[in-house]
Amino acid sequence: MKVTLLGTGTSSGVPVLGCNCEVCQSKDPRDHRLRCAALVETATTRLLIDAGPDIRQQLLTVPFRRIDGVLITHSHYDHVAGLDDLRPYCYAFQGIDVYAETGVDERLRQVMPYCFPSDPKALYPGAPILRIHDIRVHEPLTTGDIEVMPLRVYHDQLPILGFRIGTFAYITDMKRMDDSEYAYLEGVDTLVINALRFDRPHHSHQLVDDAIRVARRIGARKTRLIHVTHQIGLHDKANARLPEGVKFGYDGEVMDINGEL
Ligand SMILES: [Zn+2]
Ligand SMILES: [Zn+2]
Ligand SMILES: [Zn+2]
Repeated sequence: MKVTLLGTGTSSGVPVLGCNCEVCQSKDPRDHRLRCAALVETATTRLLIDAGPDIRQQLLTVPFRRIDGVLITHSHYDHVAGLDDLRPYCYAFQGIDVYAETGVDERLRQVMPYCFPSDPKALYPGAPILRIHDIRVHEPLTTGDIEVMPLRVYHDQLPILGFRIGTFAYITDMKRMDDSEYAYLEGVDTLVINALRFDRPHHSHQLVDDAIRVARRIGARKTRLIHVTHQIGLHDKANARLPEGVKFGYDGEVMDINGEL
């Protein structure tokens, strides 16, 4: 299985509009971070995790093939604003399956009512065909040959989803997780997890030290930090501050999970 980090930036993206700091002015492409999304692929199945406002640009970097499902972590703008941009996939492959928790689907219906008419035959011409499927925490779902375990994490007070797929887990926008959740992460080898910056606590996102602590407790061999701000500093220097096995992810980074692909 292969995982591509399509975006690793926090909600504003990096560079931040109007910012003249050394990170935002850097020529190193690894200092440029689109909003968070990832593509999980086996030989026969492709799943997208989140579809934020940069998704069109992100998907231009990968072959145009069917996407078997979109897993939604939560309904914040930086994770769902690009769903409409999946239209070409909807046209070419007869719609797209979107997997989200109850609550998220209601939010999507409010924000994009033209995609969800009460009479499906009355769909606005040209609108994307999004089939929303309800998913529940700790109830695995199977798409093609990929089995996904939805995990519960908290984004400030907001319960949102993380996903475990085999020995890989993807957690974004987390502030904390219940102790009982670690049972569902046992055996995870490759962890992608959010870490906003090194210092200055944030009400809804954990920091680098928090992410390292979680990664250590899970026992992940390889950890990549995502949803980061320009405040971490230049990519190489920031990475030098991290312990063995932990690195900042970068846009376009490909991870081979267990050498299966
Ligand atoms: Zn976010
Ligand atoms: Zn900056
Ligand atoms: Zn969020």
